[in-house]
Amino acid sequence: MTQMEAAFFDHNSTTPLDARVLAVMQPFLSGYHGNPTSRHRFGRTARHAIEEAREQVARSVNVKSSQVIFTASGTEADNHAIFGLTAQFSPAAIAVSSIEHPAVMRPAHMQISKGWKLLKIAVDHQGVIDLDNLDHLLAQDVALVSVMMANNETGTIQPIEEVVKLAKKYGSLVHTDAVQALGKLPIDFASIGANAMTLSSHKVYGPQGAAALILDKRADIAPFIYGGGQERGLRSGTENTAAIVGFGMACELANEALLSRQLHTRALRDQLEQGLSKLGARIFGQEAKRLSNTSFFAFEDIEGETLVMAMDRKGFAIASGSACSSDSIEPSSVLLAMGVDPDFARGAVRVSVGQDNSSEQIATFLTALESEVQRLKQLTAIAV
Ligand code: PLP
Repeated sequence: MTQMEAAFFDHNSTTPLDARVLAVMQPFLSGYHGNPTSRHRFGRTARHAIEEAREQVARSVNVKSSQVIFTASGTEADNHAIFGLTAQFSPAAIAVSSIEHPAVMRPAHMQISKGWKLLKIAVDHQGVIDLDNLDHLLAQDVALVSVMMANNETGTIQPIEEVVKLAKKYGSLVHTDAVQALGKLPIDFASIGANAMTLSSHKVYGPQGAAALILDKRADIAPFIYGGGQERGLRSGTENTAAIVGFGMACELANEALLSRQLHTRALRDQLEQGLSKLGARIFGQEAKRLSNTSFFAFEDIEGETLVMAMDRKGFAIASGSACSSDSIEPSSVLLAMGVDPDFARGAVRVSVGQDNSSEQIATFLTALESEVQRLKQLTAIAV
């Protein structure tokens, strides 16, 4: 089976490039090759394209274009937010939700060596942040709070407006990682009231290699990369013009298609979860508000990694929730934070559907899954 014939159910990891996005990128990959910093016509063409893309990204989250700082990845924007927003303070505390992506969690951990205290905000059994716990932690001189808008594994949507309200009461800054929310939820940065927000192009049918940090107008943030002074001096380095142009178009398309994508993916996800329940799967975060395209589940006595490989052989690309370290399979830290038993958590797999998936694909997936689950359970029974 070729990659083209397989069904791609892993849109939270990355998305295929939309043909309309590729079309606007093409001239900047071959033909227009100016450096956007150059003053001549080649450079001006690239600069103009980048500024247009900045407008498109800005419009998609209701900010002014001057608030958009382009970066090369969501990971970079998250790192910039954590390091850049805390640079103005002498070491105090940073509070992050216990289900943050490593792109937030790791830089937050790095701050410990510089004398910062790292506080982890608890989540409930559905994976939703515990606001009472946040309120309690905020009493400890918290300079920065970082809570994601939607979780990449479970899809649970966090009450970010409430987080901002609480944090403001204590004078703390707020960053939100909206990488998974973009294109799946309406985002109005101005009305949320956060100080910084991360977006990434390749999760919304745009290219890899472009992302953005959105800043409020008064944000006091230190530069992340020093050099020629691009991106208002905050992120030096020659811009990836083609990728940024594609990102702009992807944001525009995401806004136009938001509702239809939500309806399409919700119908597929509901069809999937009806089937999963019949097969005896436990679905994580099912009672919470979730992204319409995401389902994270496990079967008793089946390793997630094993199921991912078995389904790959059958032509379905899904993800496991565990991370392989050198000599073991670590259960998902998101599920552990939700109080899921580590052995059961090792079984977690994620299906994240997208605009090109169909109901027929879900039906054939469920049939294949049923036979794989039966086969793997028999193997486990023999092994015991
Ligand atoms: N934050 C979240 C919630 C993500 O899901 C991801 C990617 O999976 C990232 C950050 C990192 O984004 P990027 O892949 O653009 O570095």
